[in-house]
Amino acid sequence: MEQIRKGQRLILFPLPFQGHINPMLELANVLHFRGFSITILHTNFNSLNPSNHPHFTFHSIPDGLSETETSTKSPMLLVSCLNRRCHDPFRNCLANLLSDDGSEEPIACLITDPLFNFTQSVAKSFKLPRMLLRTGSVTSTIVYAAFPLLWEKGYLPKQESQLEEPVVELPPLKVKDLPTNSCDPKIFLQLITEWGNVIKTSDGVIFNTSEDLEEQALLTIRPDFPIPIFPIGPFHKWFPTSYTSSLLSEDESCISWLNTQAPKSVVYISFGSIAAVNEAQFLEIAWGLANTNQPFLWVVRPGLLQGSEWLEKLPQGYLEALDGKGHIVKWAPQKKVLAHPAVGLFWTHNGWNSTLESISEGVPMVCMPISCDQMLNARYVSDVWRVGLQLEKGIKRGEIEITIRNLMTEKEGEEIKDKMSKLKEKTNLSLREGGSSYQSLDGLVNHILSL
Ligand code: UDP
Repeated sequence: MEQIRKGQRLILFPLPFQGHINPMLELANVLHFRGFSITILHTNFNSLNPSNHPHFTFHSIPDGLSETETSTKSPMLLVSCLNRRCHDPFRNCLANLLSDDGSEEPIACLITDPLFNFTQSVAKSFKLPRMLLRTGSVTSTIVYAAFPLLWEKGYLPKQESQLEEPVVELPPLKVKDLPTNSCDPKIFLQLITEWGNVIKTSDGVIFNTSEDLEEQALLTIRPDFPIPIFPIGPFHKWFPTSYTSSLLSEDESCISWLNTQAPKSVVYISFGSIAAVNEAQFLEIAWGLANTNQPFLWVVRPGLLQGSEWLEKLPQGYLEALDGKGHIVKWAPQKKVLAHPAVGLFWTHNGWNSTLESISEGVPMVCMPISCDQMLNARYVSDVWRVGLQLEKGIKRGEIEITIRNLMTEKEGEEIKDKMSKLKEKTNLSLREGGSSYQSLDGLVNHILSL
């Protein structure tokens, strides 16, 4: 139930990528329900639609990005541009908000993304407390923070011959599970080192996870990051999923199609908002899916296959031959899809949001990590929580068919489903009164009020 107003306003400023916007807007809803007023800042690039959140106030930050800059395929390059361009407009916006004539509540703090490092000095200059939302897992944060050590020990940059070797300092990770990025490894190391410092000098970090899911990682991180840490996830399970912060329009035909399918029969396939595959992989995915003979709902985001508009690379007659067994859309209302009783399996790239959304609905996963922290999320899904299987032999139609069959119909799949339903229960229980995320959220509210 919504709580009485606290008479304080929070300013939230997400990094403008879907996987960062969703958890920040979900956090905004959680804190709004806890009585805070909310102002959202957003860049012009991937700007947000205020009408989806009429209970928040929105301000846009003119980022001045050129078309060439916004069309880069490297998210890290875009982040560097944003860090250079947004400093002044952000400063001006904050100055206006803080010098308000008193018609709005006092601003308690800024909550932003650790990758927006320009916010640190600006907030400091206004003596405005600054908390961070880390949108990845605690485990991935530990791994990124260990980057200088991993370089020193020779694990990074990754060498082809070492990919299968264990990272003895970070079990059960193998070298191939360490995060990668399209930018130069040395520049990436420098960015990540700065990023770690930005986190350590903040007034606290909020994680979209729970003690029950990442207990060990939280024990490990606390001594290294001596700031208040609040694991209060899964965020989206705090309230009904009636708000959307999708940048692409959600195709609701998914739900009516799912309504016609048998319980737990459908394979849902989505690789998030950024990942791309090549033509050979795209065709292997298409044939692998068709050959399983299971009904499937596949999100082919424009841009998933580089250089292609949408479905034109599918073999001729492919869709007709499916005879209604497959439904393909450009973008799905993913949380609603995963919560639908017809969905039995999620074939995912293991972005942290997708991984957590799957766990909180108890849907076992086929893991196909592509970059960033996805490989280590996938390792946790397959080897730690044991709630999914990786496509160990790559994106090949035979491997896809065997993996989906193992999960849907074989004994191995039964064991995984059983583990997944226990993990779902444990994770969602943490939001109930007395649960770990519930208590941590109380702690966060008190911390904000004390800043
Ligand atoms: N998502 C969605 N519809 C889709 C595909 C993805 O709403 O068709 C959402 C998904 O629910 C998640 C986010 O987009 O909240 C993707 O974040 P994630 O961390 O999984 O991956 P990223 O896009 O950052 O690689």
